[in-house]
Amino acid sequence: MKRICVYCASSEQVAEQYLDAAHELGRILARAGVTVVYGGGRLGLMGRLAEGSLAAEGKIIGVIPRFMQQLEDMRERKHRMLLDSDAVIALPGGCGTLEELLEAITLKRLGLYFNPIIIVNVAGFFDPLIAMLERCVCEGFMGPEHSRMWQLVASPGEVIAAIKSSRPWPENARDFAVVRARQESASS
Ligand code: AMP
Repeated sequence: MKRICVYCASSEQVAEQYLDAAHELGRILARAGVTVVYGGGRLGLMGRLAEGSLAAEGKIIGVIPRFMQQLEDMRERKHRMLLDSDAVIALPGGCGTLEELLEAITLKRLGLYFNPIIIVNVAGFFDPLIAMLERCVCEGFMGPEHSRMWQLVASPGEVIAAIKSSRPWPENARDFAVVRARQESASS
C-alpha cells in the first residue's frame, strides 16, 4: 500500500465535521506511509487532507492544480493516477467527488481496476448513494456480486483496516460485468 487516490470536496461551505475528517484521513495515511494522490486544490476537504498529511510528514501528489486550463489532460492524468493507485478512498464531496467515485466503481465492474474502493460515510453522508447502488442491484441493473466493489466505513480511523481486510476482486470481473438473463448466464 504505497499510493492511494483520495476523492473529496473542493467546497469550504460545509460542516466542520467533514473538514475534520479530511484532516484526520490525511494524518492517518501519512502515518501509514501512504502517498496521497488527490485533486491538488487548496480549498475545502482537499486542502484539509493535504494539511493533515503534511503535518504528519506525509507525501502528497496533486493531480490537477491547473485543471481548468487543460481539461483533457486532466482527465487522462486522473485516469492514469487511478489505475496506478493501490486503493481509492472517497470522502464526502459534490459532483466532482461523486463522478470520480463512480468512475472507479465502473472501471472495477469492467475488470479494469481491481483495488479496494473505500467510502468514508462521515455522518451518513453517502447513505443516499448506497441506497441508489443497492437499488441498482435489487432491480437487476447490477449483479449482487457488484455490491462487493466498494466498502463503507464510518470514519477515517477505519480506513486502513478496511483496505487490509478487503477481498480481492476477481480477474474475470469482465465476465460478469453485464447482468444477463438467468438462463443465459447459467449456460454461458
Ligand atoms: P467536488 O466534489 O465537486 O467539489 O469536486 C472535488 C473533486 O473534483 C476532487 O476530488 C478533485 O479531484 C476535483 N476538483 C474539483 N475542483 C477542484 C479544484 N478547484 N482543484 C483541484 N481539484 C478539483
